[in-house]
Amino acid sequence: MESFAQHYESMCATVQKCMPGADMALIDRAVEYARNKHKDQLRKDGSPYIIHPLAVAEIVAEMGLDLDAILGALLHDCIEDTDASFDDIAKHFGTTAAELVEGVTKLTRANFSSTEEAQMENLRKMFMAMSKDIRVVLIKIADRLHNMRTMQYQTPAKQIIKCRETMDIYAPLAHRLGMQKIKWELEDISLRYLNPDAYGEIMSYLRAHQEQDEAFMRTIQDKITERLSAVGIHNTTYGRIKHVYSIYRKMQAQNKTLAELYDLYAFRVIVDSIPNCYNVLGHIHDLFNLVPGRFKDYISTPKPNMYQSLHTTVIGTQGIPFEVQIRTWEMHETAEYGIAAHWKYKQGGMGSNEKDFEWVRRLLESQQDTDAEDYVNSLKIDMFDDEVFVFTPKGKIVSLPAGSTPIDFAYAIHSGVGNSMVGAKVMGRITNIDTPLQNGDIVEVITSKAAKGPSRDWLTICKSNQARTKIKQWFKKEKREENILHGRSSFESEMRRLLLPMSALTEPELESHLLKKLAFDNWDDMYAAIGYGGLTATKAVGRIRDDINRALKAQEAEKTPKSLLRTSADSEALRHNRHAVNGVIVEDIESCMIKFSKCCTPVPGDAIVGFITKGFGVSIHRADCPNTQHKDDPKQAARWVRVRWANQDEQPFETTLELECLTRDGLLLDVATTMTAARVRVKELYGKDLPGGKSTFTVRFEVRNVAELESVRTKLLNIRDVIGSRRGQN
Ligand code: MN
Repeated sequence: MESFAQHYESMCATVQKCMPGADMALIDRAVEYARNKHKDQLRKDGSPYIIHPLAVAEIVAEMGLDLDAILGALLHDCIEDTDASFDDIAKHFGTTAAELVEGVTKLTRANFSSTEEAQMENLRKMFMAMSKDIRVVLIKIADRLHNMRTMQYQTPAKQIIKCRETMDIYAPLAHRLGMQKIKWELEDISLRYLNPDAYGEIMSYLRAHQEQDEAFMRTIQDKITERLSAVGIHNTTYGRIKHVYSIYRKMQAQNKTLAELYDLYAFRVIVDSIPNCYNVLGHIHDLFNLVPGRFKDYISTPKPNMYQSLHTTVIGTQGIPFEVQIRTWEMHETAEYGIAAHWKYKQGGMGSNEKDFEWVRRLLESQQDTDAEDYVNSLKIDMFDDEVFVFTPKGKIVSLPAGSTPIDFAYAIHSGVGNSMVGAKVMGRITNIDTPLQNGDIVEVITSKAAKGPSRDWLTICKSNQARTKIKQWFKKEKREENILHGRSSFESEMRRLLLPMSALTEPELESHLLKKLAFDNWDDMYAAIGYGGLTATKAVGRIRDDINRALKAQEAEKTPKSLLRTSADSEALRHNRHAVNGVIVEDIESCMIKFSKCCTPVPGDAIVGFITKGFGVSIHRADCPNTQHKDDPKQAARWVRVRWANQDEQPFETTLELECLTRDGLLLDVATTMTAARVRVKELYGKDLPGGKSTFTVRFEVRNVAELESVRTKLLNIRDVIGSRRGQN
């Protein structure tokens, strides 16, 4: 059994060594606070619980972290295991320390054991994403390290679970954070429990050869130091046997027994400056025979996890190869403690502001290769903005686009689950199905056999394409009648917009030709396709529009205007062949001034009406313009006149679209690029931010007709984060 005093003194000594001038009174208060809170709890070995936080704090101090992190480590189990609250800790030790404790608590509560290899990367990402502050991850790694060191007191079943989790999550994270020393220790302890036979075999081999190994390493070490002293290079040189797990991995990878493995030895030469690293390299190559192809310069090209050293493999006097790593003291610190070492080189600590990742900047400045970028991507905590990681009730992890809702989750599980969803529970509580999910949420879908299937709103609520596709599929299959109605009505309104008569569809000569062009067997099939979203009405009409117009013209030429023409008034106007002004023909008025209203900017193809203004001729509005709603008011009725577009060469018309968007950088550029690609002339383009992360873009541009306008509109709506559009109504 271990004593409080022993751990307390050891922790204090380490803190004073690693952080001279630290506020020991504050640390004492945290120790007392934690000791008091945990006073009724015992470790598995029967010792007082406080020993664990003391040991974790000591590891955190050794890493070189700051005072807040040490306080966080001392208090790290208080919220989880005692009645201490966030507010209470914040009151006594500051908000930062309290936030670190809370962050660790969140990680403790999440379940990071998964049996699926494919899930590992997601688990690691989620682990990082859940920790708002990198110090939370480091405290959690220290916590795990101490628990691993005291693993012998756990039950065998628990040992296996914890060691797997360590190999899956903690050791790779330590590696990524550049903390070699901790990574090795985690791996060696894990191997001891996960494969005791292999571990035992390697350990007894190493023990049996200990004297021999030490003698060999002493010879080499003496040879190196002798030479370096002779040329006046101040150095610290030592040899070591590679760590157990890396030997185990080599045996596995090369399928060799221990006796056949040669490169078990590694030597380190630590010097004061980078030029001396290269000097030492020259001397090593002079003293021993070089193994070709094994030299690596990680000083000029650091590893993604910031590791720097020169590596070379040479062959010693007895024909035994060994590796030599040459580095400066600063590189050594970084190699041992990784990211944590950077606290030591930055004044005032790193702080909790993620934007202030000094080392990330340094890393990006020093290395431009893709590896480094990958590394930063995988590391920087707020870089997973575009993904959210949640759990099924059984602990399976599901990765979804950020902002995803229980709807997305349900369809990610199975389309059957989504289609029969009637509600959802998040973290055990009933939640609206459009609530955005948070990292680490446990999501449960409530299904019912009586469910009526998805609603059309879901298509706009869900964030993942997967969900959207599956919902569309459902509508396609289950709701044919409804789809036909829906599709028919949008098709009809599109036809109306382009002044195409529906009767054309059933013209004996035309019908089969049009259906063939659209690739449908009958009109209902096409309406159904439009109804479930497989085809847009704009596209469908666009495909057959020219054919209908051609047929219309042919019929006119044959002087059989009746069948295809809309109204007798229309045919009347045609026969009169009135003079068109600005492309518009005003019924009953031979010649007049025409202007296009600014409120609704009509373009050819729009259904339009005219209003006789006082002194400015006839102003043309879209039929659906709000300003036309008083048309039937008896006082004004006489001033509204029938107008229509003349079939003349199409001249450009100005129109305005207002786009509703989710705010993001680069959106304006995307809009501009799309407009350019669509080859339309943009007269004006501006955006403004709205509350709630939304923004609007207003774009004024020229089109020839409604078909062109709709095609531009479709392209704009295809831009990511553009969620809606409106014709301008100034
Ligand atoms: Mn703990």
